[in-house]
Amino acid sequence: MFNLSMEFAVELDKKDELAQYRNEFYVQKGSIYLDGNSLGLLSKRAEKALNELIASWKEFGIDGWMNGNFPWFSLAEKLGEMSAPLVGAFPEEVIAAGSTTSNLHQLIATFFKPHNNRTKILADELTFPSDIYALQSQLKLKGLDPKEHLLQVKSRDGRFLEEADIIEAMTEEVALVVLPTVLYRSGQLLDIENLTTEAHRRGILIGFDACHSVGAIPHKFSEWGVDFAFWCNYKYLNAGPGSVASLYVNKKHFGRIPGLAGWFGSDKNKQFDMEHTFTPADSAGAFQVGTPHVLSAAPLIGSLELFADADIHRVREKSLLMTSYLMKLIQSQLADFAFTIGNPLDSNRLGGHVSLEHPEAARICKALKERGVIPDFRQPNVIRLAPIALYTSFAEVWEAVQVLHDIMKEKAYEKYENKREVIA
Ligand SMILES: *Cc1c(COP(=O)(O)O)cnc(C)c1O
Repeated sequence: MFNLSMEFAVELDKKDELAQYRNEFYVQKGSIYLDGNSLGLLSKRAEKALNELIASWKEFGIDGWMNGNFPWFSLAEKLGEMSAPLVGAFPEEVIAAGSTTSNLHQLIATFFKPHNNRTKILADELTFPSDIYALQSQLKLKGLDPKEHLLQVKSRDGRFLEEADIIEAMTEEVALVVLPTVLYRSGQLLDIENLTTEAHRRGILIGFDACHSVGAIPHKFSEWGVDFAFWCNYKYLNAGPGSVASLYVNKKHFGRIPGLAGWFGSDKNKQFDMEHTFTPADSAGAFQVGTPHVLSAAPLIGSLELFADADIHRVREKSLLMTSYLMKLIQSQLADFAFTIGNPLDSNRLGGHVSLEHPEAARICKALKERGVIPDFRQPNVIRLAPIALYTSFAEVWEAVQVLHDIMKEKAYEKYENKREVIA
């Protein structure tokens, strides 16, 4: 099916239904950006939305809360509604608020209710460190020792998790499970539906960190009965560095008192009564804490409009085509250079990036950057390459592999130290 010529890449671009969206992004000349799973590029629509909200501040002052095209008072709810189709949720089940990590704190503070022998939280040993820090500190706040009460499912090979191992660890001592949808290093997509069903069969609540899947992979959180989820919007959703994050809470949990309450979690009609009795919103909005970060939420408006046009199912389809194309090129062009593909090959198990392992990964990344290909490095030996459906072309994927081939052949990486940069 695949052919290794440059012409073939050009043909794929010609047939690509999403090709038009590339023009909507600030793609830099002379650079092949394969790091959109870490920080997505700026789109013109996101920029326009940010400018619009700056203008509403300029024009309306305090009255911007209720005026303009995107009144700030309901902006978080509006963004939740716009995000809901990406994760398969009802509009009122999603809210834009806080950061990934602060949302995880909120959700654990809300959903982790140790009782009798159920005092443990189940996570895994490959997950993102910030999640583990948050879980450890939430356990400590409840007077529980994380060494005993935080269980981390082991990986058999350092790359992947086996659902069977996770399910086996769902014992009668576990109150709550928190897992990634997609592992940030190996790109493994977990079986969210199955894990949710199995957790519920055992009377355990389950939530997901969806940072590496929202905007790349469609979900059906509501249909699957996932209790809660949280994600950032600056990776595949291109809402900018430090942009507002999002969270999802299944309808069946509406009315729960947030573990970390604040006035923006109020029923919106009551918020300005200024009562000292908290009346939570009957929606995911209850899990907001303080005033929304309007300017860091603004770009997300434009980004989500773009996704509504492009359609997440088409995004996923193209993403899978690009990653499989990239893997084919790697297998044929780089066979002599000791690379290992460290992500699942099955498209039902693969997230949005290719995880290429090599003992010299850190310095190969430096050499790639010098030649205009932007990957990222993850300890200890992973080069992550993410072709992004909305703005990467097949020709760029082809070229990136040629650049990598030349670097390996010339050993051009040898002039660098095999050590990560401060940000890697
Ligand atoms: C990017 C990422 C985070 C980042 O959390 P912030 O609070 O936005 O800094 C957390 N978890 C995972 C899995 C991530 O990929």
